[in-house]
Amino acid sequence: MIIQEHITLAPHTTFKIGGPARFFCSVSIDAELLEAVTFARNKNAPIFILGGGSNILIDDQGFDGLVIKIEMMGMEKIQDLGGQARFKIQEIHQEAIVDEKQKRSVDEKKVIVSVAAGERWDDFVDYAVEHGLYGIENLSAIPGTVGAAPVQNIGAYGAEVSQTILAVHALDTRTMKFVGLTNGECQFSYRESLFRKEKGHYIITRVDFALGRRGSVNTEYKDVQEYFLKQNITSPTLKQVRQAITDIRWGKLPDWKLWGTAGSFFKNPIISAEQFLKLKKKYPELPGYPEPDGRAKVSLGWILDKVCNARGLCKGNVCVYEKQALVLIAKPGATSEEVVVLAQDLMRMVKEKTGIVIEGEVEWVN
Ligand SMILES: Cc1cc2nc3c(=O)[nH]c(=O)nc-3n(C[C@H](O)[C@H](O)[C@H](O)COP(=O)(O)OP(=O)(O)OC[C@H]3O[C@@H](n4cnc5c(N)ncnc54)[C@H](O)[C@@H]3O)c2cc1C
Repeated sequence: MIIQEHITLAPHTTFKIGGPARFFCSVSIDAELLEAVTFARNKNAPIFILGGGSNILIDDQGFDGLVIKIEMMGMEKIQDLGGQARFKIQEIHQEAIVDEKQKRSVDEKKVIVSVAAGERWDDFVDYAVEHGLYGIENLSAIPGTVGAAPVQNIGAYGAEVSQTILAVHALDTRTMKFVGLTNGECQFSYRESLFRKEKGHYIITRVDFALGRRGSVNTEYKDVQEYFLKQNITSPTLKQVRQAITDIRWGKLPDWKLWGTAGSFFKNPIISAEQFLKLKKKYPELPGYPEPDGRAKVSLGWILDKVCNARGLCKGNVCVYEKQALVLIAKPGATSEEVVVLAQDLMRMVKEKTGIVIEGEVEWVN
């Protein structure tokens, strides 16, 4: 493993912004990861774990520590579960990383696929769909790596990755031991997990997914329904759903290979039922979705667009995307400072107009 110095981070991110890392290395096996963490400890340097760089904003000043790029590769179908699924899982996960609740939910229709953290997320979705495995097709075309997917519990079009995760394997940096965490232990919720709450504690090396051998596709989202209506398709296949999601996303989101962006910059806020009803009186068309605890998740894209009129708003070289107000795009020459100033303006506008305090989805690395 080679430790490089003063490596510019902008090309390692989809925002294409950011200064240098004091130290930088890529790791492709567990031993290299241990070596890298030990190096940082000896230098007393903070660590930042880098996947595909699609959910971060690196500061113009860079990162004064060690950036570890996760490049562990490999995808393996551990077990195609037959009738004795409940017993076989116990054999596979000898370290008891499957909890009781999951043992019941993993039935004979499931296939367990174990995927290394450095694999591209969308390559894995492609693999699953090609092998007729259900569960992640609605998460098609999301950039980034498999290892980062549990971190913010990626979600789109009515699906969240946590619905398919059986176990997460990681290096526990406090004990320097490799551990397995059950789905329950990962504390997943909307764009949240243990890995975001306890930043730096775990470095994910591999994720086990339980995917359906048989299943039904989820086409409940309006855009998806309209897509199939236009195509005159009444019972879409797994492959058709993947294609639909990919087409819809490309129509709505900026091409991150051309523009700097990290997708949705903010989380959709979850507010009390009372606050939602008040806002609904003022803005009858405000989209909101009930949460299991009685609160409501509201569409921030709609608020930024219809209430704040923010589409196309710019600060220097950074703008609110014309087609989707939740997304910021950076033109060549953009700085992290411009992104932060625009983001703060948007936060203030939303607070003034609706009383809602919004939270960033993209992580600012400084
Ligand atoms: C155009 C576009 C569209 C997007 N659409 C969606 C969407 O629909 N839904 C959605 O949820 N997200 C979306 N995103 C956000 C992003 O793709 C996801 O959050 C993705 O999972 C980030 O993966 P990454 O490998 O790029 O992570 P990075 O950006 O490199 O890292 C993100 C965070 O995860 C941590 N991390 C990365 N790898 C590991 C690891 N192995 N162990 C521990 N921590 C790790 C990093 O330290 C950092 O805190 C979109 C982004 C873009 C640019």
